[in-house]
Amino acid sequence: MSTASILGIDFGTTNTSAAFFDKAGKLRLVPVTDKSFTLPSVVWFHAADKSIVGHAARRQIIDDPRHTVFGAKRFLGRRFQSEYVTQHKDKYAFELVEAPDGYTAVTMYGKQTSLTDVAHLIIKQILTLANHAAGEPFRECVLTVPAHASIRQREAVRQAAEQAGLQVRAIVNEPTAAALYYANLRNPEQTVMVFDLGGGTFDATLLAVQNRVVKVLATGGDAFLGGANFDERVVEMLVEDFQRKHGIDLRGNKVVMQRLVFAAESAKMSLSQRDATVMRVPCIAQKDGAFIDFDYTLTRKQLEEMVFQLIERTASACDDVLERAKLKADQIDELVLVGGQTRMPAIRERFSHFKRLSSEKEVHPELGVCVGAAILGRNLARGIAGLADVVPMPISVMVPGGAQHEVIPANTPVPATKSISMELPLIPGPISLALFESLDATTVDRELLGTVRVDLDWRTTHKGPTTLEVRMGQDFVLSAALVSPQGHRHALPITDLRAPKRAVS
Ligand code: AMP
Repeated sequence: MSTASILGIDFGTTNTSAAFFDKAGKLRLVPVTDKSFTLPSVVWFHAADKSIVGHAARRQIIDDPRHTVFGAKRFLGRRFQSEYVTQHKDKYAFELVEAPDGYTAVTMYGKQTSLTDVAHLIIKQILTLANHAAGEPFRECVLTVPAHASIRQREAVRQAAEQAGLQVRAIVNEPTAAALYYANLRNPEQTVMVFDLGGGTFDATLLAVQNRVVKVLATGGDAFLGGANFDERVVEMLVEDFQRKHGIDLRGNKVVMQRLVFAAESAKMSLSQRDATVMRVPCIAQKDGAFIDFDYTLTRKQLEEMVFQLIERTASACDDVLERAKLKADQIDELVLVGGQTRMPAIRERFSHFKRLSSEKEVHPELGVCVGAAILGRNLARGIAGLADVVPMPISVMVPGGAQHEVIPANTPVPATKSISMELPLIPGPISLALFESLDATTVDRELLGTVRVDLDWRTTHKGPTTLEVRMGQDFVLSAALVSPQGHRHALPITDLRAPKRAVS
């Protein structure tokens, strides 16, 4: 293998996959088993420091749910006290806790493991498989993240890969990677929308594809909507049905709930192929000294009714993105469906008003993203990028006194350099300008990214309005500088930008 080979890794909420171009320039998917190219993003801890990853770990969700971590990506790079973690942490049988740095960790056999470390275990496993497939170790990678990943989440995935010994050449949005893959399938100019509904997130991204180069026009979606929400709807219905039939509320028992989630997901997936499926979970509760098994026949029609509103949420997010670009669905050449959840027939039906929907045979729903990452890796090795991405969420600054100003609006093409001008108070000592990223469209939920310190010296030497310049690079890394009214430019470090730090046990 030439030293230039860069591994494309799609670290997903549910599954992880990887691809690369071999010496002969042939695209290779990394085999995980004889039959599959996807590694379940599941880690089973059989001791505090001993774990296994993948299919064997996934089987432990039923047998040893307290020590089996799945869906970790949903919590990675999120503060433990955030609304999202608070709302979802009790749905899992494994224990989520607050790490010393304020982010989320798991406790296994009394030892704390950060979610970055959990992500690292999964990335390390896919890397081992990739090294084996290539016959030589990879040193560099391209990582993918949901388009709506915050800067913290991007950094957490980067750290996990670095811990595995990989240098991260680029972090690319999953739908953009899918579009790169698509651009390599079709030559002519196209305007496409990538509809990416995976296990944990939903992204809708509008892109212009031209001569194998991809330009993001607009992006939207819902960072809190994914296949797992479909499973939840099924579980809610099952729990109510069980309570009606047996007078027992299963909600309090995390282990039982996890078994039901697992059963619901399997039923949901099988309903993509057939009209009805039988769900059977043995010994789910006890009554009058006897075990009760859980039996239920779920139909596709029932499932579709239960998740109707979730599908409508994806449709209205798509409408928003189209509206922002002032385009109509019939002006889009193709809706490219990626993410495992798009295998559900009701989703294809709901979007049949688009001119054309990608076929599963041509654009693989689960593997398209890692292939796109491998294509970007090949492009980078050749010194070209072949894509233009956009800022997913607005960046704003708060000045002493609490006034807030948006510096970089969402959907600005990266690299982006934007400035705002402000009067800085002449109070003694240094002052701090706080940089925030808005985590949702309403900007209620914000994440502090770091602070920029402006010394009194600067403010007394350069009188008049100061300009703060904030730049987001191609790799979504932020930097800042001050520009005086006289035009003096002074680059400033942003403190804490590389957090979250690793949790200590
Ligand atoms: P991904 O993140 O792309 O691996 O997608 C994972 C999500 O897709 C999970 O919520 C799965 O339950 C869901 N999924 C996978 N296969 C199917 C299928 N055949 N039908 C419906 N949903 C599926």
